[in-house]
Amino acid sequence: MSVLEVKDLHVSVETEQGTKQILNGVDLTIAQGEIHAIMGPNGSGKSTLAYTIAGHPKYHVEGGSVLLDGVEVLTMSVDERARAGLFLAMQYPVEIPGVRMADFLRTAKTALNGEAPALRPWIKEVAEAMKSLRMEKAFSERNVNEGFSGGEKKRHEILQLELLKPKFAILDETDSGLDVDALKIVSEGVNRAKEANNLGVLLITHYTRILRYITPDFVHVFVDGRVAEEGGAELADRLENEGYDRFLTDTSVA
Ligand code: ADP
Ligand code: MG
Ligand code: MG
Repeated sequence: MSVLEVKDLHVSVETEQGTKQILNGVDLTIAQGEIHAIMGPNGSGKSTLAYTIAGHPKYHVEGGSVLLDGVEVLTMSVDERARAGLFLAMQYPVEIPGVRMADFLRTAKTALNGEAPALRPWIKEVAEAMKSLRMEKAFSERNVNEGFSGGEKKRHEILQLELLKPKFAILDETDSGLDVDALKIVSEGVNRAKEANNLGVLLITHYTRILRYITPDFVHVFVDGRVAEEGGAELADRLENEGYDRFLTDTSVA
C-alpha cells in the first residue's frame, strides 16, 4: 500500500509585482484507496498545490516536501512522477495535433510500463473503458483533444486514469463545466478506478456537487494556502450549507 505525503509545503510564484507566496505550509497524507477532497474558496491555492505536485516549472518550492512512499517527488522529472504512479491530468498537453487518441493512449501506456501492452487485450480494454464512459468508438480515431468539448476532455482524462492505472490521481476541478449526466459518468469512472486499482484520489473542487457521486473519506478545507480544517464527508455538507465565510478573515473577504 502506497502513501503520498505533502509535508509543510511552501510555494511561491513570480508575478509582475514580485514574488508572491501562495502555499504556506500544506500538510496532507493520502493512502492508496482513499479519496481526499480539497475544498476552498477561489484563490486559496488549490490549483497551485496540484501544479506543484505535477512539477509545473512556474511554481517555486520554498520549503517542505512531497513524498511517495518516502521518496521525494519534487526532484523528479514529470516523466518520473508518472512512472512512480502519479496521475496528473495537466501534464498532458491540451492538444496534440496529428496524434490519434488510440496511438496516444498506447504510447503513454508503453512509456509507463517500459514495454508495449499486448495488442489484443489492450484493444479490448480500451474499448470496454470507452464504453463505460459512453464514448463513441470513432472517438479513438480523433486527434488528442483537438476540438474536444469540455465534457469530452474530462472523459478522455478519466479514460487515461482507467487505462494507465496510477496509484494516485490529482483531479483539479474535474467537475467544472460538466452537466449532471457527464458528471455522473466521470464520477463513476473515478469510483471504478478506485475499486479496480485501489486508486488514491486528491479531488480538488470549489463546489460540493461532485461529492454527491464520489464520496470522500476525508475533506480538507483549504484557505490562504494551507489546510484550515479537516473532517469526513459531513464537513462537505456543512460547507454546502454555510459556505466558506467563517474561514475567511476580514481582509480576505474585502
Ligand atoms: P485556486 O485554485 O484555489 O483558485 P490558485 O492556486 O489558482 O487558487 O491561485 C492562488 C493564488 O495565486 C491566486 O491569488 C492567484 O492569482 C495566484 N497565482 C496562481 N498562479 C499564479 C501565476 N502563475 N502567476 C501569478 N499569480 C498566480
Ligand atoms: Mg482559481
Ligand atoms: Mg483552481
